[in-house]
Formats: sequence, C-alpha cells, structure tokens
Amino acid sequence: MNLEEFRAYGHQMVDWMADYLRDIETYPVKSQVAPGDIIGQLPVQMPKQGEGMEKILSDFQQIIMPGITHWQHPGFYAYFPANSSFPSVLAEMLTATLGAQCMIWDTSPAAAELEERMMEWLQELLDLPGNWVGALQATASEATLVALLSAREQASNWRINQEGFSGQEKYRIYASSETHSSIEKAVKIAGFGRENLVYVRAKEDLSLDPKALRQAIESDIRAGLKPLCAIATLGTTSTTAIDPVGDMGAICKEFGLWLHVDAAYGGSALALPALRPLAKGLELADSFVFNPHKWLLTNFDCSAYYVQDKAALLRTFEILPEYLKTTHDKQVNNYRDWGIPLGRRFRALKLWFVLRHYGAEGIRAVLQQHMDWATELEGWVNEHPDFKQMAPRSLNLVCFRYAPAGQSNTAELDRLNQVLLQQLNASGKIYLTHTKVKGAYTLRLVIGQSRMDRQHVVQAWEQIVETASQLQ
Ligand SMILES: *Cc1c(COP(=O)(O)O)cnc(C)c1O
Repeated sequence: MNLEEFRAYGHQMVDWMADYLRDIETYPVKSQVAPGDIIGQLPVQMPKQGEGMEKILSDFQQIIMPGITHWQHPGFYAYFPANSSFPSVLAEMLTATLGAQCMIWDTSPAAAELEERMMEWLQELLDLPGNWVGALQATASEATLVALLSAREQASNWRINQEGFSGQEKYRIYASSETHSSIEKAVKIAGFGRENLVYVRAKEDLSLDPKALRQAIESDIRAGLKPLCAIATLGTTSTTAIDPVGDMGAICKEFGLWLHVDAAYGGSALALPALRPLAKGLELADSFVFNPHKWLLTNFDCSAYYVQDKAALLRTFEILPEYLKTTHDKQVNNYRDWGIPLGRRFRALKLWFVLRHYGAEGIRAVLQQHMDWATELEGWVNEHPDFKQMAPRSLNLVCFRYAPAGQSNTAELDRLNQVLLQQLNASGKIYLTHTKVKGAYTLRLVIGQSRMDRQHVVQAWEQIVETASQLQ
C-alpha cells in the first residue's frame, strides 16, 4: 500500500465507522454465532503472497462482523459498559498513527507531560485527595497487582524484591466476599498464595462489614500471621455495593495495613458531587484505581491509578539499565517505573480529547442521566407485581428478577430467569448479563452505555415485561 492508497482507504474507513455507528441498532447487540463459526472461515495458513485491501475489508464485513458483540449499541446493558465516544475514537486513530512508544519521557515528552496533567484533571473531576499522584495503566487488574506488590515491598522493606520470598512471610490480604476476581488473580501472581486472601463477610446490603474485617485481622494476628492489605470496592461488579472506605481506612491505620480502593467501575460516579460522599474517608487510602474505559466515554484501555506515596511506588518498580538512562531522569516522569510494562501506549491523548470535548459539566450531565434513568427503572421494577428488586441500587445498575405472583419455588424462579435472559439476548435488541445475589439467579441491567437515551430504557423494560409474561 502506498501513501495515496492509505489516504483513500482511510477516508473510506472513516465513512464506514460513521455508517456503523449510525446503523448500529440494526445489528444484534450480542453476537449470535456459535463456537467455531468464525475460526472455521479462517484459512489454516497465512497467505504466502500479500492480499489486497479490498479483499481484506470485505472479509472483515463477512467473517468478522457477525462475530462482534456491539458494546457501543444502545441496547447494551450487560457487564459494565466499555464506552467510547467520538473524540475518543478520533484520538485513538491519531495514537495508532503516531505509533509512539511512551515508556519514558525521552521517547515522547508530550505523552509523559500530557499524562501528568490528565491525571491531575481526573483527580479534580472526581475530587480525589490533592496529595495523590497517578499514572495510567492498561487495566484495573494490573493496577491492583501494582498496589499489592507495592504493599508487599513496603512491608518487607523491599526485601522480597531483592531476595525473593523466604517462605516465612505470612502476609494476609482482606477483601469482601463480593470482591472482583482480579483481586484473587493479583494475590496469586504476587506470590501470596490464594489461601491468604481472606474473604470478609458482607452485610445485608452486600458491602463489607468492618466489624468482620477487624475480627479477621485480630484473629490472624493472634495466629502469628501478618495482615498486609485490605481492598475496598467502590461499586462491586455483581451489584455495585459500596464498601465503607472510611471505616476500613481507620482499621487499616490502626493495624498498619495498606488500603487499596478498587473503584474500577464506580469511580466515575464520584464526578457527581451528590455521589462523592459514597467515598467518604477516601483520603485514608494508599492506592486507588478507576477505569475511564468503563463509564467515562474513553475507549478501552485506560485505567487511572493513584497512590499516596509516589516514592514507595517507584522504589517497587524502578529499573535503570544503562540503555534507558537519560539526562533528564531526575526532572521528569518516566512512567515505565510506575507499573508493570516497559512499553506504554499514548493513552493520555484520548483522555485529553474526551475531557476537553465534554468538559466537566458535559461529563456530569451524561453520568447524571444514567443515574436518573436507573432510578426510574428501579421504580418500574418495584411497581410491577411480577418483578422483584434483588439488591439495593447505589449507582446505575438495577438487579432484579422475574418473580410472578404465586411462584415461590426458588429453583423454578432461577430456571425462569435463566430462560428469560436467554430469550432477551437472543432477540438481538438488548443484552443483559446475570449474577447471583445470596444464591438467587438475578438479572443485571446497567444503564451506562453512552449512546442510549431514555427511550431505549423504556423499550428495554417493555421487552423484558412482555418476554417474561410469555414464559412457560
Ligand atoms: C471491571 C472491574 C475490574 C477489572 O477491570 P479491568 O480493567 O478489566 O482489569 C476490577 N474490579 C471491578 C470492581 C470491576 O468492576
């Protein structure tokens, strides 16, 4: 391909992108293919000779598109959203074109300095403590691993980095029974051993019970174990329960534990002043992560990680081989030392486009709408005699299930709701996922897709009621 062909295909593709987003509601939200459908259409061997773009693009349409689940479809109510927005997509095109490797300041000073400023903008948007500093990571899973490694090194006085585990360390990590699976993964990777992750009882509202946390820590200390870190979740994945950060922070201070806050999804909500009190006591946290790539209009991947003690972070991850030394190392942020990978994408650019395009008020307006529609939906669920809300709503996720009058057999209710979910998702119009709340099969409906409007929510609810009423 030469430059002029690149230009022509580029224009053609931007037209395709605009058409796709215009027509997105004509696609089934959840891909309807079966396992193997896609790979069966892909040649076993790569081509010997290069192929033309026309053919590649037509195969993209024919083979790939049917196997895509349309996360930007306004009928997407599943998991948590992975929102994009026009400014974010445009910035991603520029990032791909620049193809810069932003591992250290020298390798693109603008990337490092823009990232520094964007972390400050986000800090202000969410009203995070002013003494924190942060860097972008790819995912919350990575940021949580970074937090656990930092806690480990600080507690061992950087000995484990140096000598490895001696086998004598008996570190314990605490999180609620509702915590995200990435915590367990990080505990395994960091070398603590899964059996040292203590799942602390949750209260009736599914938030961590601080009394149970204190008991678990005290009992571990009596047993000669070493409490290291507690993880508070601001918005659990199952039901967006909010752990009591302030209470947990006080307990962590008392016993000398690191407090990490996993606000992967819920963090964005702190941009709304009315919801900021959910994170009361946040200044007690040692580290905090939230994902602009979920609810903040910014394409995956973009995860914002903040710490109180920059020195502890850098000391945990710093490397300085001769070939990476530069003359500015003392004056600038070399983000390779702020996390796991050496190579880094220029992620700050899309944040800059998004935050400038919407402004704080524009972002708050989007989030507030989602909150309002979720409040409305919660009302409809509760007004309907055949539906039941299954968990308290703190953000824009409504957890409910079909529970027709007269039916109280729990196994039968689980079955009915599984069938309901399958039928709704097979319709191609909407996509929901499920969870279990205290053992009961529960539908989750997240109102956070950036392309939806109120009418979509109205229609989704009508479809749910209608489909449920026909269930056998
Ligand atoms: C989505 C989510 C994660 C994982 O986020 P990644 O960025 O995909 O690693 C972790 N914790 C919570 C509470 C989440 O909702």
